[in-house]
Amino acid sequence: MGAGIAALVRRVVRGAPAGAPLAGIGMSVPGLVRRSDGLVRLAPNLGWVDVSPGSIILAALGVDVPVSLANDADLGALAEHGRGVGVGIDDLIFVSGNVGVGAGVVAGGQRLEGSGGYAGEVGHMVFDPEGRDCHCGSRGCFETEVGAHAIAEAIGCPVDAVGSLGDVLDGYATPPPALHRIGHQLGEGLSGIVNAFNPQVVVLGGYFRALHRLVPGDIAAGVHARTLPAPLESLVLSQPGLGADSILLGAAEMALEPLLADPVAGLQASLAEASSRLAG
Ligand SMILES: [Zn+2]
Repeated sequence: MGAGIAALVRRVVRGAPAGAPLAGIGMSVPGLVRRSDGLVRLAPNLGWVDVSPGSIILAALGVDVPVSLANDADLGALAEHGRGVGVGIDDLIFVSGNVGVGAGVVAGGQRLEGSGGYAGEVGHMVFDPEGRDCHCGSRGCFETEVGAHAIAEAIGCPVDAVGSLGDVLDGYATPPPALHRIGHQLGEGLSGIVNAFNPQVVVLGGYFRALHRLVPGDIAAGVHARTLPAPLESLVLSQPGLGADSILLGAAEMALEPLLADPVAGLQASLAEASSRLAG
């Protein structure tokens, strides 16, 4: 795992301007990240349980720079709130639809983290008690009904091609009929989130971005069918303002936070050296 991610980091560093200092590494993780120390408690779709990717990656790279980790949907919310469609909006939820489904919640202008940092695991809300088994050990979770595998199954995309599902969805000019049902189910699930948090904007990221383009009416109908009238009044369902890159931009933003908080300490010569070593 460390070697693969380290190779990706090296590729990014090589693409940076010559002499640019490496201020830190920001990582998005599709799973539960402990806020206190960045330990990944569970990333089921990667098979990680209590893994500390930060130290593994630094060892693989042979450098010592700050590594920040956070949940993917939380980073999407951070980026969209700071620079995307949510600028100036204090109550926003970024719902990430990938292999798993999760939500990053900004409430009253603050990121909602929960006591350990695990808030927003909406993919494991019970959606259908008689539904399919979920990898989390439960049954009928929201993500078993609308996650990547459910979408792939609905449109006849082979299991081994789920990794390219985004390209498949982007290739449709009109939606395959089965996506109407998935869109409606997505809307129904979103209604639970809207009823709980009363956001002004729900940003649909990951594969849900393509679903929103293809079946916006079905998603809206699902939301309208199940959401209480009052929180529905001001609700907007939106595409990410930052396109497909919200989560990665959020990771970059998080990695820069220590530097912006203390620029002198953050730009030590050793960081520039680390950058040149990796690029070499
Ligand atoms: Zn589950």
